[in-house]
Order: sequence, then structure tokens, then C-alpha cells
Amino acid sequence: MSPQQINSEENPFEAMSARFKIAADKLGLEPGMFQVLLTPDREITVAIPVVMDDGALQVFTGYRVQHSLARGPAKGGIRYAPNVHIDEVRALAAWMTWKCAVVNVPFGGGKGGVICDPFKLSKGELERITRKYVARIMDFIGPDRDIPAPDMGTDGQVMGWFLDTYCNYQGSYVPAVVTGKPIALGGSAGRIEATGRGVMIVTRQALAHLGMNPKQSTAAIQGAGNVGLISAMQLASIGVKTLAISDIHGALYNKNGLDLDLIAKHLAKARNLDGLTCGDRISNEQLLELPVDILVPAATENVITSKNANNIKARVITEGANGPCAAEADQILDSKGVFVVPDILANAGGVTVSYFEWVQNRMGFAWKQQEVEDRMEHIMVESFQSVVGMSKRFQVSNRIAAYILGVDRVADATRRRGIYG
Ligand code: NAD
Repeated sequence: MSPQQINSEENPFEAMSARFKIAADKLGLEPGMFQVLLTPDREITVAIPVVMDDGALQVFTGYRVQHSLARGPAKGGIRYAPNVHIDEVRALAAWMTWKCAVVNVPFGGGKGGVICDPFKLSKGELERITRKYVARIMDFIGPDRDIPAPDMGTDGQVMGWFLDTYCNYQGSYVPAVVTGKPIALGGSAGRIEATGRGVMIVTRQALAHLGMNPKQSTAAIQGAGNVGLISAMQLASIGVKTLAISDIHGALYNKNGLDLDLIAKHLAKARNLDGLTCGDRISNEQLLELPVDILVPAATENVITSKNANNIKARVITEGANGPCAAEADQILDSKGVFVVPDILANAGGVTVSYFEWVQNRMGFAWKQQEVEDRMEHIMVESFQSVVGMSKRFQVSNRIAAYILGVDRVADATRRRGIYG
């Protein structure tokens, strides 16, 4: 697929750039700095030849984009999906740059992707794709260069193969090359829950800000993966009732609330919601328009656009996914008074605990779960307050406020380093 084949409302890099431009304008960013911050530092495209289980040779395409290294090594996940597109990886890498700056962890932004369907590959094929991908990007990654992590379609096992391949090439044990690893390989306590827990913390802050009671609030969650399912369970811990949750095939809806433990047990075996009868089946589109207090899009980009933004009934949208709202939807949601907690704040619990994992690996020490949770909570609450404060100061939406906060910190680091050469 060429970039021209994504229309502009659906192009994630254009969606990111549109918000960046507004923030840059508010900050009065000089034209040279505007160009530096918008342009990815490095983009790598690799061919990944793999012998499949049936003996056939197949060539996959992989990307790694390092958007900015101004504040530290690149940081960001690796996505395995059939529709991975370079403009999507570029946008995701830039969002990581702003996100790391919003929560003030010392990383730049990066993202990777491999065009493949992980659900149609055997475990052996997935392992060979992962190891070859690592071999091909080897020279550009490392604890001080670029530290990948899981994203859609990848998990702790993929990170384990990633780590092992890197260590084999280096001839030494380097756990800090990747985060989101199994705990047995130096992963951090609390990393699996981190993104969903962060979603809960900022949602709780948003409800308090709006004078809403979590115990009387309902939620609809798009996506039942690492972010979506754990967000639902974490929200339940503060009394929020989840009425609907979905996977790529559709949603499950129960107006009295869903049995999340049952759903979690089912998903651990089946990996999709098929066969569950604890609710009615509705579409992903219907889920987004349900009359709930909180909507958590936690699946993929561009699910809320100019076409359906007017039909959203939630008072709060907490963006578990990266880029779930198209730029064209922003104004519509603002004019309806929807309180949006933007992705670069809302799902930053993941990268925050990834940062803790990297720190622990470099110290050769493992923190207790409570310590991880306390430190993360502090950062998320403080970042939420900074974004709301910025929104008041500049009279802008939370999203633009978060961009202003992030872009300003990256611009400051870039200026202080100066342009070399
Ligand atoms: P995952 O693979 O664990 O789960 C994704 C879920 O979304 C699955 O239930 C899948 O069936 C569903 N889904 C996929 N495509 C869909 C579509 N087109 N429509 C509806 N549902 C769809 O992925 P994840 O790790 O939970 O990531 C979800 C989102 O959160 C992504 O945008 C990712 O970039 C973002 N994110 C993840 C983390 C993390 O720590 N995992 C951190 C920050 C942001």
C-alpha cells in the first residue's frame, strides 16, 4: 500500500502533524525547529526472509522509525499486523516522542512494525520472523540507542526472542535492550498492567475534575487486549461498571454490566470474544456510540472520525489506543464538551513502567510491585495536572495542551544540544 492509498483523515501521520502544527503555532516555534521536530530522525525498512513451516520461503517487510533522539534513546513498541503502514509507524514513533516528554521520562520516540498476521502464523514462524527482524535492525538498537517493547500483535514472548537474539549477537546479557519482557528475563513487576492501570488513574482524575462519581459511572471499552481488558478491570477496582467490550470482530454489550472475570478467563484460552453469552452482540461502531459516561478506545487508530464524532454520547474519552480520534473529530468533540484525555497522556502508564524496567535492568535490581505502582501513580497524576494546567493557560483542549507540553520539552532539549555539523 502506498501512502497515497490512505485518505488524509485516516492517515495517522497527518493526524499527528495537524495537532503538532497547532501546538507549534501556540508555542511560536521557529520554522527551522518546526521542521526538525516534525521530521523523523531515522527510518529503517528491512526485508525479512523466513522459511515457513511448509518449507516455502516468504519475505516480510519490517520498519523501525526513530522519530527523535533529542531527550534520550528512542523508545517504542513493535506492531505485528497485516496492515502496518510506514505512515502509521512514523506517527506512532512521533507520538512516543511527545508521550515520553509529557510524562518526562528520559527517552525519545521510536516505533517498529512488521507486515504480517500474527494470528495466522505458527509459533515457530513468529519466532523466526522476530529473530530475523532483530538481526536486520541490530546496529540501530540497544539500551542507549533504541529500546523496543510490545505493541499490537506482540507480547512478552516476542520480547523474549528479541532479547535472546540481541544477546547472542552481542555476546553478553543486555536485558535493557527491550522492555515488556517476561519477569524471568528481567521484566518489571506491574508492566503487564501498567497501561490499563494508567488509563484508570487518568480517568479517575478526569472524573474527579468533572465532579463525577466513579461508582455511578459506566464505561464502554473498544479492544479487549492488553490495554482494553486491563483498563476495564482497573476501572472496576474504582467502581466503574463496564457495559461493553469488543475485539476486532465485534462487541459484547450488557446494560447491567459485564462479567469481566469470565471474559478474562475466556480470552486467555480463546483470544477472542466468540462463544461468550454474557451479553448481546453489537458492532464496534455501535459500541462507540453507546450512552455511557466513559469511552475507552483501546484498539487502533481513527475509530472516531468526522463521521461518527457527533454521535458519541460519553462525557469522558480516555484514549487507551494511540491515535483513535482523527484530527477532524477533535473540534466536534470539543464543541460537544467531551472531556478527552489524549493518548499521549492516557496510555503513558506503559512507557512509564517500561522506563522503570530499563532503570531496574541497568541497576541489576528488581523493585516490588507496590514501588512500581506508587512511582507510576505519582507520574500519571502529576502529568494529568500539568496537561489540565496547560489547557487553562493556553485556552486549548487537553489534546493540544499535551502536545504543547511535549513539544516544548523536546524543542528545549534540541536547542540546548544544538545542531551538530
Ligand atoms: P492487543 O493486540 O493486546 O489488543 C488489541 C485489541 O484490539 C484486540 O482485542 C483486537 O481484537 C482489537 N482490535 C484490533 N484491531 C481492531 C479494529 N480494527 N477494531 C476493533 N478492535 C480491534 O494490543 P494492545 O497492546 O492492547 O494495544 C492496543 C492499543 O493500545 C494500540 O493502539 C497500542 O498502540 C496502544 N498502546 C499499547 C500499549 C501497551 O502497553 N500494550 C501502551 C500504549 C499504547
